[in-house]
Amino acid sequence: MLLDVEGRRVLVVGGGAVATRRVRALLRAGADVRVVAPDVATEIAALELAITRRRFAPDDVREAWLVFACTDDPAVNAEVAAAARQRRTFCVRADDATGGTARTPAVARRDGLTVAVNAGDDPLRAVALRDAIDAALAAGDLPTARVRPDDTPPPAAGGWVALVGGGPGDPELITVRGKRLLEAADVVVVDRLAPRSLLAALRADVEIIDCGKSAHRHNLTQDEINAVLVDRGRAGRRVVRLKGGDPFVFGRGGEEWLACVAAGVPVSVVPGLSSALAAPAAAGIPLTHRGVAADFTVVSGHLDPGRSGEQDVDWPGLAAHGGTLVILMAMQRLAAITEALVVHGRSPQTPAAVVQHADSPVQRVLRAPLSEIAAAASREGMGAPAVVVVGEVVAVLEG
Ligand code: SAH
Repeated sequence: MLLDVEGRRVLVVGGGAVATRRVRALLRAGADVRVVAPDVATEIAALELAITRRRFAPDDVREAWLVFACTDDPAVNAEVAAAARQRRTFCVRADDATGGTARTPAVARRDGLTVAVNAGDDPLRAVALRDAIDAALAAGDLPTARVRPDDTPPPAAGGWVALVGGGPGDPELITVRGKRLLEAADVVVVDRLAPRSLLAALRADVEIIDCGKSAHRHNLTQDEINAVLVDRGRAGRRVVRLKGGDPFVFGRGGEEWLACVAAGVPVSVVPGLSSALAAPAAAGIPLTHRGVAADFTVVSGHLDPGRSGEQDVDWPGLAAHGGTLVILMAMQRLAAITEALVVHGRSPQTPAAVVQHADSPVQRVLRAPLSEIAAAASREGMGAPAVVVVGEVVAVLEG
């Protein structure tokens, strides 16, 4: 049985690693997730979710379609399972599959197929088989051809998708071409950091699909966004994908491009003014300056600087290099990032700045030496969206 949890309330009791995995999967499926736990992992805390920070109480299962007991205390999990049973709500117990009324299988998903494996009290056995099936699917060794004819219609004539960079947020900082395409669009798929004030001027019949509407509901996943672009484009609509900054700078525009190409939908890209350039300018920081800096590097601060992996930013290399450094998506890990830079040799006195909500009426700029900027930013309550600039250029136009 596969459950459709989209828009349905699902309770997760617990806030550790197991709960985090569950929450992530449930959000992907569009569930209305509620979490109850005295403490929650930072990843859960960072999500816009209804979190009740206390011990579980039986009443918490009220209104839930499904309950996950994921604490590290078997007694609490048993209590959750009992409360769910009493209310006739299905419950998955993470610590003891047979102690609940539902189980989560190991799942492989590929090309519209879902394979679920359950191995009773031996979940790692299920995972091993799932991995083997997934590998066989990937290798094309299993009979996966469609049986029912694929009835998706060929693309209607005239439809297109334009990936439009909207700039940092000020409606004046979109390109002329971007604005023209926006005015021609039948459908606008818009992000949270895009210049949203431009939407007010659109014709009343324009379909606006908001990917950034977040209050207690998860955003559209990238797959869902790709699917919407393709669907509307194939239907012959003129689609503008309005994004913040530039579509190809940390914007996942490349994935949207590939999805359109794969579906045969004509796609184009209109570059935008990236916040990597706009935010320093808005704060009076030249990225290069004669005799001070001859280059700048733009990196993502999204990943933990301690992690290792091929996509990681080379923090030691950047620290040693000494040019201007522009970091996007850094606010969650600013302390670890600045520490890594100092540990790897950048002077703690290097001027640094945080530019929050650049080019908006609520723009804020904070300057401090590299070793102090993280503490100062947290003291000032500065968070995303913000761009961090590190380098001598930060001070060059001051005084
Ligand atoms: N494609 C975008 C970047 C998307 S990633 C671009 O080119 O600008 C999102 C990050 O962009 C945020 O975490 C923040 O670091 C940065 N950002 C976007 N708009 C911003 C703004 N108005 N002010 C400061 N930072 C911004």
